[in-house]
Amino acid sequence: MATLTLLARIVTLRSAHAKLLEFSWPRCNTFPYGRTTMACICSDQKFMYDLLVIGGGSGGLAAAKEAVNLGAKVAVLDFVTPSPRGTTWGLGGTCVNVGCIPKKLMHQAALLGEAIHESAAYGWQVPDPNIIKNDWQALTTAVQNHIKSVNWVTRVELRTKKIEYFNALGYFKDQHTICGKMKNGEEKVFTAKNILIAVGGRPRYPDIPGALEYGISSDDIFSLEKAPGKTLVIGAGYIGLECAGFLNSLGYDATVMVRSIVLRGFDQQMANTIAQEMERRGVHFIYQAKPSKIEKQADGRLLVHWVDKERQTHQDIFDTVLFAIGRKPLTEELKPENIGLQLIPETAKIDAIDEQTNVPNVYAVGDVLHKKPELTPVAIHAGRLLARRLFGNSTEQMDYVNVATTVFSPLEYGCVGLSEEAAIAIHGEDKIEIYHAYYKPTEFFIPQKDVSNCYIKVIAFRNGDQRVLGMHFIGPNAGEVIQGFAAAIKCNLTFPKLKDTVGIHPTVAEEFTRISVTKRSGLDPKPQSCCS
Ligand code: FAD
Ligand code: NDP
Repeated sequence: MATLTLLARIVTLRSAHAKLLEFSWPRCNTFPYGRTTMACICSDQKFMYDLLVIGGGSGGLAAAKEAVNLGAKVAVLDFVTPSPRGTTWGLGGTCVNVGCIPKKLMHQAALLGEAIHESAAYGWQVPDPNIIKNDWQALTTAVQNHIKSVNWVTRVELRTKKIEYFNALGYFKDQHTICGKMKNGEEKVFTAKNILIAVGGRPRYPDIPGALEYGISSDDIFSLEKAPGKTLVIGAGYIGLECAGFLNSLGYDATVMVRSIVLRGFDQQMANTIAQEMERRGVHFIYQAKPSKIEKQADGRLLVHWVDKERQTHQDIFDTVLFAIGRKPLTEELKPENIGLQLIPETAKIDAIDEQTNVPNVYAVGDVLHKKPELTPVAIHAGRLLARRLFGNSTEQMDYVNVATTVFSPLEYGCVGLSEEAAIAIHGEDKIEIYHAYYKPTEFFIPQKDVSNCYIKVIAFRNGDQRVLGMHFIGPNAGEVIQGFAAAIKCNLTFPKLKDTVGIHPTVAEEFTRISVTKRSGLDPKPQSCCS
C-alpha cells in the first residue's frame, strides 16, 4: 500500500514537473532557430547539462572544473570577439591572454632591465648597460608562446576532465536554453539545468573621433607587432599605470593622461606615492585632462588633442595611444531580455545575491558582478564555491571582504583591507590609529637605488583589541609580501600580534613587524637603522 502511494506521488510529481517545463520551456520545433543544430534533448524534455558555463575565463573554468569533480555534466562556451584592432586569442579568458599573465611577464621584463643596470654595482661585468636595449618582438614572441602553451594545456585539461568545450558565442534563448554561434555562423542549441554567466568584460573606448580607428587597448598591447614607441596611456587605474610603468622601463617614452585622480578607490596617499615614484622613473603625467580627438598624420604618427580643466586645448604627437579607461561587461550580448535578467542600468553589471541572479537557475561570477573586485582570484574562488554549493552540498559563501591586491607599477603597491580614507569614513578618525614608516630595502644600498617612495602603512583600531583594518606596502615584491598578511587579516590580526611577530631578516616584509610611529604622534617615520 505504502509502495503504491509512493508510486502515485512520483507520477503526480512527474506530470506536474512536465507541465511546469512545458509552461516555461517551449518545445524545440517552436524555436525560430534557422540553421540550428539541434542536439537530441528536447523531445524527452531533459537537459543536456547540469551546468552550462558561458565564458571560459578565470571564473567560468574554475566553476566548470569543480562541478565535474563533483560529478556534474558540464559544458563551457567560450568565444573571443576580435578587438577593434583585430586582435584575438585562445581559450582561458582575459587573465591568461590579455591580462594578469602577459602583464606580469612584461613587468618581469621591466624588473630584469632594472637588474641589469644594478648588476654592475654588484660586480657583474656587463657591457655598458646604457647600450642594452629590449627587443620588443623577442619579448612579445616569448610572451605569446607562453600564452599559447597555457591555451593548449587548458584545452587538454578540459578534455581530460570530460568538460565539453565549444568555441561559440552564447546568448539566452530562454532560462534553460543557450544558443551558441560558432565561428562558421552555425548555431548550436544547448540546454542546462543551471547556467553560469562568466563572460567578463572588454576595454571601453571613449566616444571621441579617432579612438576606435587609431587607439589600442590592453587587448592589443601584449601582442603588438611593432614596438609601441612614444605612448600615451589614457586612464590612471591599474591597467593605465601598469602599462605605462613597464613601457617606460622597457625604454619607451610613456605618458599617463589622468582624468581626475590616480588609482581611484585606493588609499590616496599610497596612490600618489606610486605616481610620484613613476614620475621619478621617467613616466610623464598629464593631470586633469581628457582626450578630445585623435588624428593620423601623413607619417603614420598620431596627433592627440586634449582638453584640460580650464577648457584649454593641447596637442602632442605619439606613436601609440592606449586606452585604459575601464572595462565594459559583456552582458548585453547575452540577450538578457530573453530571460528577464536584471542588469544595473548604469554599468550593465549583474547584481547577484550569493552569485545567483534574479533568474533562479542562472548564476554569475567574476568581472560581470556589480560592486565586486575585478580580479582573477576573486572570480576563481567565487566560481569554485558556487560549484560546491550547486553540486557538493556546500553552504560556504564567497567572502568579498579584505581581498588583497597589487598594482605592478613597477615598484609594486600591495594592499589589503581599508584605505586610510575609508577607515576614517567608516569608523571616525578618533577610533583608528595609522602607523607608517619609510624603509630602506637592503638590496637597494649597493646600487644606491632611490628609497624615497618605499613606504608602508598599517591602519588599526586605536582601542580594544586594536584589530588591523588595512595594510599597505610600496616596495619590491609587494604582491608576495601582502599575500601572507592578507591571511593574517582574515584571521583577525591585531596590532599587538603584528608587533609580537618576529621578523625575517633581512627582508622587506619584516618592516611591518617593526612599524611603530603613528601619524597622530607627528614623529618622523623615516627609516631607523638597518638592524636595530
Ligand atoms: P574573463 O577572464 O574575462 O573570461 C570571460 C571569457 O568569456 C572570455 O574568454 C570572453 O571572450 C568569453 N565570452 C564573453 N562573452 C561570451 C559569450 N557570449 N559567449 C561565450 N564566451 C564569451 N587580475 C588579477 O587578479 N591580477 C592581475 O594582475 C590582473 N591584471 C590584469 C591586467 C589586465 C591588462 C587586465 C585587462 C585585467 C587584469 N586582471 C588582473 C583582471 C582579471 O583578468 C579579471 O578579473 C579576470 O580575468 C576576470 O575573470 P572572468 O572569469 O570574470 O572573465
Ligand atoms: P579602472 O576603472 O581601474 O580605471 C579607469 C581609469 O580610466 C580611471 O583612472 C578613470 O578615471 C579613467 N577614465 C574613465 N573614463 C575615462 C574617460 N572617458 N576619459 C579619460 N579617462 C577615463 O580600470 P582599468 O581599465 O585600469 O582596470 C579594470 C580592472 O581590471 C581594475 O578595476 C582591476 O580590478 C583589474 N585589473 C587588475 C590588475 C591587478 O590586479 N594588478 C591589473 C589591471 C587590471 P576616473 O578616476 O576619473 O574615473
